Amino acid sequence: MPLTDKFRRPITDLRISITDRCNYKCVYCRTGNEGALYGDLPFADYLRMARVLVGMGVTKVRLTGGEPLLRQGVVDFVRNLAQIRAPNGGEPLDIALTTNGHLLADLAQPLKNAGLSRVTVSMDAVDPDRFARITRVPNGYDHVLAGIRSARRAGLWPLKVNCVLMRGFNEDQIIPFGMFAREEGVTVRFIEFMPLEEGRTWSPATVVTLDEILARMGEYRPLVEIPHARSETARRYRFDDGVGEIGIIAPVSHPFCGHCSRIRITSDGKIRTCLFSVWDHDLRAQMQRGASDEELADFIRGVIQKKEERHHIGEPDFVPASRTMVHIGG
Ligand code: SAM
Repeated sequence: MPLTDKFRRPITDLRISITDRCNYKCVYCRTGNEGALYGDLPFADYLRMARVLVGMGVTKVRLTGGEPLLRQGVVDFVRNLAQIRAPNGGEPLDIALTTNGHLLADLAQPLKNAGLSRVTVSMDAVDPDRFARITRVPNGYDHVLAGIRSARRAGLWPLKVNCVLMRGFNEDQIIPFGMFAREEGVTVRFIEFMPLEEGRTWSPATVVTLDEILARMGEYRPLVEIPHARSETARRYRFDDGVGEIGIIAPVSHPFCGHCSRIRITSDGKIRTCLFSVWDHDLRAQMQRGASDEELADFIRGVIQKKEERHHIGEPDFVPASRTMVHIGG
């Protein structure tokens, strides 16, 4: 039986945060005064968790953080993950990485060789000065651009660049990102800003919505929607001349919770069933008390039944998540 929650959503997609540390302090994500709040686990622990979950139906694993490339040993970890096989048919895992790209240039090829399939680079401006203001790190832009190009050369494909838009801050980057997608041959995906930041600055007015992004990009060049599976989180578009693809992930204006197939493991080994969970579930503690793989699977099955039906962003009953994005693993 595939792993499904009580709303009959199959759970196939696992995200593991392998460190709570990050080398960027993006203004929409972090206050700039706080560092890591949670520890991390030996890679062997994440590997065991992943193996148990693959045995239960997970087919995709995405590594995230914090900033996952800060973690020493990440290449070997990917190599070990790539050895895991699904119980029936022995399919290899689809292994992906979300990174700010700062350290990617030197790691892209080794990661590819180790078995990484795909990479998503987060990047919120295509202008070096603006990029520095957002990340609060000087000269990051050149490193990230080098990382993107190195990932493309290494064949980490499809290569996606994710941009979170905030009103009054970087929505003037929409068209430049359209040009960037065309010139660099990457898929640029805009993500609506969610209330998951340390500084609690979110308000509905700060969200640049899907409709606005489409209207603005349409002023640059006409877009044609690409048919996509209903379960895909991003709506996809190509430019009318066939050069360049963009996507829009709109959890605020067009929620897709009904198709959510994800669970997350935090750097300290807690399972989170939703980005907006107000509690987490201590898988690491089960391992520490000596649980067998079968007992871990039973624990996970119980946790999955508690997966939230949907988020309540913008509703009067919204309760902020018990962790912010950087400490969950986006
Ligand atoms: N350091 C890695 C990176 O930069 O991709 C992984 C962790 S980061 C928290 C993961 C993603 O979450 C990034 O793409 C970031 O832009 C996004 N993110 C952070 N805060 C967000 C928020 N409040 N709303 C939407 N996306 C957010």
